[in-house]
Amino acid sequence: MHPDDKRTIDWLNGLQVPYYSLKEFIREMIKHPKDKLLKEWLEILKAGKDYYTFKDFLRITTSKYREAYNEVEYQGEGINITNKSLPQMYRQLVEACEILGIKEVPTYSTNWFYAPYHSSNGETHRRIIMVSGSVDLFTKDEMMFTLGHELGHIVCGHKPYHMLLETFYMPFINDAAFKAWGAIIKLPLLEWYRTSDYTADRVGLLCCQDINAALSTMIKKAGLPKKCYHHIDIESFIQQAKNFDENFTSTMDKAVKALSIRSAEFPWLVVRAKNLLDWYNSSGYKQIIDKNLRSL
Ligand SMILES: [Zn+2]
Repeated sequence: MHPDDKRTIDWLNGLQVPYYSLKEFIREMIKHPKDKLLKEWLEILKAGKDYYTFKDFLRITTSKYREAYNEVEYQGEGINITNKSLPQMYRQLVEACEILGIKEVPTYSTNWFYAPYHSSNGETHRRIIMVSGSVDLFTKDEMMFTLGHELGHIVCGHKPYHMLLETFYMPFINDAAFKAWGAIIKLPLLEWYRTSDYTADRVGLLCCQDINAALSTMIKKAGLPKKCYHHIDIESFIQQAKNFDENFTSTMDKAVKALSIRSAEFPWLVVRAKNLLDWYNSSGYKQIIDKNLRSL
C-alpha cells in the first residue's frame, strides 16, 4: 500500500467519536420512528457504548445506502459478464484474480459508455464494472492492468471508504449522525481518495507486470484520440509527469483540499503515472515480483 493511503486508513479506523449523550440519542431516534436503521442503532445503544467507532458508522450507513443503491442500479442496467455470457472477458478476470491470489472472484459487468472508464463497487457484494469503451479500447495487457487496479481497490479495503465519500454526495442523505461524522472525516477522505489510486495502480502493475501497458492505459484514459493509438509516445508522457511533479504538485495538494469529490476523483493521470513509475524504479516492485517468482 502507498504509505499515505495506509496512514489515512489507520487513522480512520482508530477514530472513536462521542456523538450524542444518551438523552440526545434517544430524542434523535424518536424523530425518525420509521427509520429502517433504527434496529441497528438500538443494537449499538444496547451494547452500552458511549461512542461509535468508525466501523459501526460504516456498517450502519454506507454499506446500507450505497451498496444497496449500486446493486439495484447495476442489476437493472448493463450486462453481467459470466463464463456463459462473455467467457473470454470472464476468463481474463479469473486470471487476474489468480495472479493476485484473490480467491473470491467479484461479480463482473459491463454497460454502454464509450470511454476508457471502469469502476468497482461494494464490500459485501463486490462488483467490477468495465464499460464498453474500455473493452474496445484497451489491449489485453491494458485490461489486465485495469482489472488489477480495481481488484487492488477491493483487496486493499478501499471500497467502504469510497462508498462513504460517494454517500456524502447522495441527495437524500439528511441524517444527523452522518453530518456529524462528515464534519470530521470528509476533508481527509477527499485528500485520501487520490492516494488510494496510487495503491490500486501498484496492484494493477503487479497484475499485468508490464510498465508500458500500465502507462499506455493511463495515456488512453488521459484522452489520447483513438486515431493515434498506433503511436503511443510513452516517453513524452513520462517527461510531462516529471515536469508536473517539479512544478505543480504542491499547488495541486493545496487546491484539492478546497475542491469537491469530482476533483478528488478526477484521476490526475499524470501524477499517477509519476507515482507508479517511481515505485516501479524503486526496489518495491522488484522485491514483490522476485519473491513471487521464487515461491513458484
Ligand atoms: Zn481507482
